[in-house]
Formats: sequence, C-alpha cells, structure tokens
Amino acid sequence: MLLLIFLFGLRLLLNATFSRAAPPSSQDRCRCLFGDACWPSTDDFASLQKQLSQPLLHPLPPASPCYPISHPSGDCDEVHQQWTNASWRAHQPGAMQGENFETFVFSNGTTSACFMDTSLGVPCTQGSVPVIGVDARDDVDLQAAVRFAASHNLRLVVKGTGHDLSGRSTARGSFIIWTHNMKNITFHDTFTPQGAPQSDAHDHAITLGSGVQWQEAYEAVTAKNRVLVGGLSAGGTVGAAGGWVLGGGHSVLSPSFGLGVDNALQFTMISSNGTRYVANAYQYANLFFALRGGGGGTYGVVTSVTYQTHPNLPLIAAAFATSTNSTTPNAPLETLFSDLIHLTPELSDAGWSGFFSLAPDPTTGALGLSGFFVMLNGTLDRANEDLGRFFSTAQSLANASDNALTVQTSFITPVDSFFIWYQNFFPQTSSAGSNGAIGSWLLPRDVIEQDPDRVVKTLLPLTILSIS
Ligand SMILES: Cc1cc2nc3c(=O)[nH]c(=O)nc-3n(C[C@H](O)[C@H](O)[C@H](O)COP(=O)(O)OP(=O)(O)OC[C@H]3O[C@@H](n4cnc5c(N)ncnc54)[C@H](O)[C@@H]3O)c2cc1C
Repeated sequence: MLLLIFLFGLRLLLNATFSRAAPPSSQDRCRCLFGDACWPSTDDFASLQKQLSQPLLHPLPPASPCYPISHPSGDCDEVHQQWTNASWRAHQPGAMQGENFETFVFSNGTTSACFMDTSLGVPCTQGSVPVIGVDARDDVDLQAAVRFAASHNLRLVVKGTGHDLSGRSTARGSFIIWTHNMKNITFHDTFTPQGAPQSDAHDHAITLGSGVQWQEAYEAVTAKNRVLVGGLSAGGTVGAAGGWVLGGGHSVLSPSFGLGVDNALQFTMISSNGTRYVANAYQYANLFFALRGGGGGTYGVVTSVTYQTHPNLPLIAAAFATSTNSTTPNAPLETLFSDLIHLTPELSDAGWSGFFSLAPDPTTGALGLSGFFVMLNGTLDRANEDLGRFFSTAQSLANASDNALTVQTSFITPVDSFFIWYQNFFPQTSSAGSNGAIGSWLLPRDVIEQDPDRVVKTLLPLTILSIS
C-alpha cells in the first residue's frame, strides 16, 4: 500500500505588477517562440493548413470575451458564470484548470495575464496561453503538426483537458496540439494486441481516442455493463487516454484492478518525426513500458489507448465530514486524524480505497476532516466493522468536545455499481479556475506502520492536504 498525499498551496498573483510585455524571446532558450525572428511565416502556416482537417487554432485566454473593457468582444457574463466550471475550461484550448497556469510571470515580477476581474483595469494579454496550433482529429493532423513543430524548432505543447497539475499542457509563445476532439470510442468483444498470439486475446476491451474524458468513457462502459479503472474529478473532465494514464493512473478501483497502466493493453502514438507506433507487450515493448508511467508528452503524442474492462460489481460506499471551531488543529481533530492514520493499513488490507482531506472551510477558515471510501464487492457487516468504529469515535469525540468538533455527516451504504456511486456520491462541485499549486508524495506503507504518530505530527500542521 502506498498513500498518495496532495498538498495544496494557494498562490495569489494579484500583487504582482502588470506589464504589456514584449513578446517572449528565445534568446538563451533552445526553442523558437512566438515573436522571435525564427517564428514561422504566414506562408509556412498556410502550407501547414493545407494538410489539416480543421482550421488552425488561435487559442485565447478564457477571460478574453470580457475585453477590451470598453467593448467586450464576447459574453462576459458567461465567463463569470462558468469561471470555476471544470468542463467549460476543459473544452477551451486556451484554458487550464488552474488559472495561474494561464498567467506568465517574468523574471522581474511583471505579469502577462487576462484576468476575469476587469475592475483591475489591466488589459488582457496572452500570458502562458499558446498562440496557434492544431485541433487534431486524426493521425494525419497529428503527423503534420509534429513535423511542422519539429522542422521549425517550435515549443510544442500537447493538451487534452488542461488538468496538468504543473501546467505542462500550456506554455508562453508555444504551438499547441489539442487532442480534445479525438473522441473515438470502440468496444471490442475480443481484443488481441497487434503482433500477439491469439492465445493472448482479451475479452471486453475498449479503445479510447486521446480526447475522451472519464465521464464519456464511464458512460460507454456502463452501457456494456462493464467498469473501467479511471480517475475522479468533478464532471469527469480528466482525460482518459492522455496525461492520466501516461502518469500511472490512480483510481478508487485500483485495489481491485490495479492502476491505469496495469489495464492498458495497447497504445498508438505519433513520435516527434511523425512515425506512428502501435506499442504493446509484443511490439515496441520498451515504448509500451515507457508510456505506462513515463509522463505526459515524454515520448510522443498518444492517439489512443486500449484498456481491459472489468465486471460491473456492486460496492459499499462510506463517507464522513467533520468541522471544527478552530483555524488550527485542535485536540479532538488531532485525535480523529491520528485514529484515521492508524486505521489506514487495516482499511487498505480490507480492500477499501478513497480519499480523506484536511482542509479549511472556504468561508470561515475553520479546519475540518472529511473523507469518502469505497469497497468493491464488499459486505455491509464488514464495512460497519472497519469504518463504523471510526465513525463512532468521531461522534464520541464530538459529543465530548463542547462544539470544538462537529460531525456533519457519516454514512455507510451499499451501491449497485461504480458509475452510480460516481454520479451520486462523488462530489460533483467544480473547483477549477483558482490559483493553486499542488505537490504530492508517495508514502510507503511501512512509514505509517512503523511510526504513525510521526506521520500525524508531520502532516497535521500542514492543515491542507488530501490522502488517497
Ligand atoms: C481535478 C483533478 C482531478 C484529478 N483526479 C485524478 C485521479 O483521480 N487519479 C489520477 O491518477 N490523477 C488525477 N488527477 C491528475 C491527472 O491525472 C493529471 O493531471 C493528468 O496529467 C491530466 O491529464 P489530462 O490529459 O487530462 O490533462 P492535460 O493537462 O491535457 O495533459 C496533462 C499532461 O499530459 C500531456 N498529454 C495530454 N494528452 C496527451 C497525449 N495524447 N499524448 C501525450 N501527452 C499528452 C500534456 O502535454 C501534459 O503534460 C487529477 C487532476 C485534477 C486537476
């Protein structure tokens, strides 16, 4: 068992000074950026256009409809309404899930950005949003795009949804390959990887184009009464065949069926010279190995991934939420957090997965501990034994705490399938569009088993973290 810990940091960019900065320069950089003398000419782009199925993209920052301030170019009300909507952002080539990644901060502290808040009086500039690129729909589009980028030495970014937690799917002065519209989904009653013997045929596999997002993938497998190891986010907006699987692919179903990479049977990929590879355990096996965890964009542009699906089993769902009257960890919260950390190896052995978070209330700043858990094909008796005890502890601590700790909710319930759980129990509130930076650590099981109190003492003061 490994625990994945996410730490969230809020970074306010508004204190920086603003500038209508000059276009980026590639002096001292190895790639050709927009504004440099080496940037391709209009004729170069016209000849690229002839090879593409779609018009060239000219991505804009998501707040651009609000500008110029005197005569907004688009529907600024919509921008305000949708700003935190993860789907709205994922559908735009110029938007990231985290607003800060759209902003560029120069080494002297000045900023190029396009703020939703027009009252700042700052003109909208391109920031770190790519200036031009390809709305890829097939291999031919991708091959033309990568060859063009390579021949002009452009800074290339590949983007499906903009969920990258370090902002790597956007870059100032870059050329973008947007895979978002590569939405093909093919179900295979039987799938044999290319080059494999017939004896390695897999029943019930699914091939997803690299623009497919988890909501779409879950709907497709549910229609076949199957389940797919996949990620969680409000609205199912994370890419199902992009950065998620290339980085490993964590899922609440992983204790039963492995990580995303354990379920990948085959990748198709376009390399930087435009060569198309079909990689699996039988051909280009090294590339297959590398793609399963080597990171987004490291080896080429993935065009599709074929996954093993699994039987659609019922599960037990559990969740709890507590709040405190304090902005720093108080005694009952510390006891409860410690209890949960001590319990984690046992929960893992019993087949539970899920997330728990320590976070301040967005309005009051008071800390709270909350979590949700899933046990595939589990029993209510077992669930009550494992988690019922913890929920009772929470209630007892709250009862004795004189309002220092409050239990807002706690429940354990059977659910017919993963998709029903995902739609009804997983929080669907959008949390996109803010300034944030997230760090994560893999915590080996023995660290928790050997010194759980030290884990508690280390993590608790951080006051904003999520453990999965
Ligand atoms: C709200 C939220 C929820 C999340 N939930 C989970 C979760 O449950 N489990 C989990 O494991 N992770 C989760 N993540 C992390 C997420 O899996 C990674 O950020 C992942 O890289 C996102 O991939 P993407 O393709 O959706 O995003 P993008 O931002 O489009 O791409 C991410 C990276 O992959 C590259 N890339 C994208 N498409 C391709 C392609 N076709 N070929 C080559 N490179 C490509 C990009 O260049 C970039 O480097 C979550 C992140 C967020 C913001």
